[in-house]
Amino acid sequence: MYIMTEDEGPRTEAAPFRLPSFVRRLPLATVADYFAGTGLILVPHMDDEALGCGGTIALLPHKTKWHVVYATDGMGSPEPVLPKRDKISPDLGRIRQAEARAALAVLGMPAPNVHFLDLPDGRLSRHGQQLYQLIARLVAELQPDHLLVPFRFDRHPDHLALNQVATRLVNEGTFSGQMTEYFVYHQWRMLPTKDVRAYVKPELLAKVEVTAVAQQKRAALDCFKSQTTRFYPWQARPNLTPELLDEVSQSPELFLRYDKKLAGTAVFSHNIPWIRIAHRLEPFLKKRKDRLVAWARRGSVTSE
Ligand SMILES: [Zn+2]
Repeated sequence: MYIMTEDEGPRTEAAPFRLPSFVRRLPLATVADYFAGTGLILVPHMDDEALGCGGTIALLPHKTKWHVVYATDGMGSPEPVLPKRDKISPDLGRIRQAEARAALAVLGMPAPNVHFLDLPDGRLSRHGQQLYQLIARLVAELQPDHLLVPFRFDRHPDHLALNQVATRLVNEGTFSGQMTEYFVYHQWRMLPTKDVRAYVKPELLAKVEVTAVAQQKRAALDCFKSQTTRFYPWQARPNLTPELLDEVSQSPELFLRYDKKLAGTAVFSHNIPWIRIAHRLEPFLKKRKDRLVAWARRGSVTSE
């Protein structure tokens, strides 16, 4: 494990960022206590685990007792902006699997504890029953104490599909341990605070301080070259920018304990109608904007 010493100080190239005040006020969780025992981390796409809980994985004291499963084949990201023009590589899925294995090795996860379900990227909800059966089989095999899943209001449909499968396993009693949600897409431009986590009842959240493993988390994220560089010539910028990587590597990771009594929007304290609207509208508007920008940019750059 890498520990940053005081005289090394912060990374000089890191972009400055301010920790939101609601995050500063949240109770601090110790990984060894909060995630005591065994666990299975459900991941929609390669890089979601490093973004949402990479620091926590690095801090797990007994990583041999934890497993990570990737639900999709990874063929959907980078996603074509102009679908008829933007070609994708048939090797993308294989490349992203190798990136995920490398990133988890950096975080200290044993290679045999990494699993891939290879379901179609972007279409998990259409394979809901198959996804359910595969996850239920893993849960039966591994008997984990914890299930980590993406937040119920993450902005990608695959994240929601995986959350729904895990919620079903808990609600029907197939999984009797503790389900906990992690956050990947928490920055929402359409919300006044720009962060959906600010609307979750604070008593349901815990934060893990990852400063001690920030460089390890950043090194894991840097393994995802298909996301951190311009993988395709038609991309204007990488999916994960250096500014975002700096910020997520140093920010505390937040977690939401699942409670059957607080389903759906019951975890939010206020602004629920607007959260519902923004959740539907923001991804749609972003796609429209990216498309318009791509048309404008490529219209003037004929060499691409
Ligand atoms: Zn994802």
